[in-house]
Amino acid sequence: MVKKLTKGSEEREFYICEECGFSYETNELAKKCQDWCQKHHSCSLKITKHAVNLKH
Ligand SMILES: [Zn+2]
Repeated sequence: MVKKLTKGSEEREFYICEECGFSYETNELAKKCQDWCQKHHSCSLKITKHAVNLKH
């Protein structure tokens, strides 16, 4: 399942792929990532390049 996360004072919403832990701005991307991760047990660069870094 894709996890939803709300971050910061602006309450931006992110969607987390629970397989690899990458965060995305849309549920669609997170789902795509998770489907790929579950199937291939690795990440697709095409998908993870859309990931957002929450640590800054
Ligand atoms: Zn993933």
